[in-house]
Amino acid sequence: MRYSETLLPTLKETPAEAEIVSHRLMLRAGFMHKLTSGIYSYLPYGLAAIRKVENIVREEMNRAGAHELLMPSVQPADLWKESGRYEKYGPELLRFRDRHDRESCLGPTHEEVITDIIRKMLHSYRDLPINLYQIQTKFRDEIRPRFGLMRGREFIMKDAYSFDVSDSAAEISYRRMYEAYRRIFTRCGLEFRAVQADSGAIGGSFSHEFMVLAETGEDTVVFCRECEYAANIEKAVIRLKENNQVEPLAELEKVETPGKRKVDAVCEFLQISPDQLVKTLVFIADSVPVGVLVRGDREVEEVKLKNLLGAADVEMIDDKQVYDITGVPTGYLGPVGLTIKIVVDQEVESMVNFYVGGNEKNYHMKNVNAIRDFEVSAVADLRQITTTDPCPECGGKLELTEGIEVGHVFKLGTGYSESMQATFQDENGQEKPFVMGCYGIGVSRVVAAAIEQNHDDNGIIFPVPLAPYTVIVLNLGLKDKKITEAAERLYSELQSQGVDVLLDDRDERPGSKFKDADLLGVPFRVTVGKSLTNSGLVEVRDRKSGATEEVTPDQVVAVLLSKIAVEQI
Ligand SMILES: [Zn+2]
Repeated sequence: MRYSETLLPTLKETPAEAEIVSHRLMLRAGFMHKLTSGIYSYLPYGLAAIRKVENIVREEMNRAGAHELLMPSVQPADLWKESGRYEKYGPELLRFRDRHDRESCLGPTHEEVITDIIRKMLHSYRDLPINLYQIQTKFRDEIRPRFGLMRGREFIMKDAYSFDVSDSAAEISYRRMYEAYRRIFTRCGLEFRAVQADSGAIGGSFSHEFMVLAETGEDTVVFCRECEYAANIEKAVIRLKENNQVEPLAELEKVETPGKRKVDAVCEFLQISPDQLVKTLVFIADSVPVGVLVRGDREVEEVKLKNLLGAADVEMIDDKQVYDITGVPTGYLGPVGLTIKIVVDQEVESMVNFYVGGNEKNYHMKNVNAIRDFEVSAVADLRQITTTDPCPECGGKLELTEGIEVGHVFKLGTGYSESMQATFQDENGQEKPFVMGCYGIGVSRVVAAAIEQNHDDNGIIFPVPLAPYTVIVLNLGLKDKKITEAAERLYSELQSQGVDVLLDDRDERPGSKFKDADLLGVPFRVTVGKSLTNSGLVEVRDRKSGATEEVTPDQVVAVLLSKIAVEQI
């Protein structure tokens, strides 16, 4: 590609609208153009990066035995009504009517459409398993689109769907996709973790998220240094430390704690540690108040609470609302005598003679014990894991990191096939629902995540496999015949070797060419300028390490090919 011919506008200034690094750099490096909120045109440079991801995804999906198809983005509402998601999905589903007044929607995902295809076209166990995928534009009407391609309304996704005869067969399909995803993100040159995830609204029975590790990630991942364990913090199961201390239950007692409302203040005043105190928090779960008990130094994990209660929505309420419901002033709420439903974190269940709020201003209670002193409607793992907890798999040391979700694999089961009556005949001639799995990769998001993980103050540092161009050749002497000839020759030689190369043949100052090459994140830069005239050499620079070397024009192609080979996976 000749820079002078393409549309690759770079910006010196950072656009004010961009909050995160990848968004800033993608706008500055001419990846895209915003059409309206959350909707972008992909310009040539951005599209080239997306194509790199797509190619890797396509190769690995095909290798794993999946087959590509392409489904429409406009979908009839009737299919969504059949699956029951038309009502459930909420305002993120963009709904509209066509000229015949038929209800339609723009597909945020394609379970319904693929299930409709399969139920009409496959009827026998002999047709299974099958795994079909597409790389397609999706639409989700996000309430607050932001972060550029990270959370747009329109985005490019790879979605795959597997159909199997049984649960155990579906597990094999799942495993195959899991391995394909590991290969895909490894080949993209990204540092990632496959983590056990909460399956959320899709209602899967089992799922993993693939997270690209980056400081700016929206999700927190907990992982073990000593084994393969990694989980989304929302889903991380807590292994309790053994508690062998047997202490006799003491008599319940009221203690005065004047003006002490916060955990730290109460503990300091009573000369106890936060692990002897139990907090009572009130959540509204689908409009019903629920008291949740966790140790003083712990935090409630809302997703775990939601799952325990089977609620669509849980929300912690503020002090005023707590007062309206319980009549207890801020900081003194406790479970003894409380009339709302109470659920207890498993850790609290094993505690004896602990402290709680006294349900009265300026009072707490000591020697409190669950069940003896208050009714418990459920005990479960309800708190957030911390780095002081042992690894649930091996007992090793845990660490937390931030991550960006770029892929998700779900074992769906028969939810869609049952509601949409998608069945096949098994070996005995019996009708059975297909057992499904679905597997997504946010293709445009992978590019954004790659930039979040790989950049510096000067711009993007693309991993070689995702770089739109692997090499940029700078012609620093447009009017100099010798320099221009050498740059042109390198450009065509690299192209003939199959290297994606960008020739900067613009009439610009050397300084801005260097700046742009850094901003664009092209892994290798070749400078053809004065050195060629003076000593017959050109400079090769590695964007990532900053290392430079001077070589003769004849050596450049071989030098670059060997550097690229090291980086290609
Ligand atoms: Zn471990």
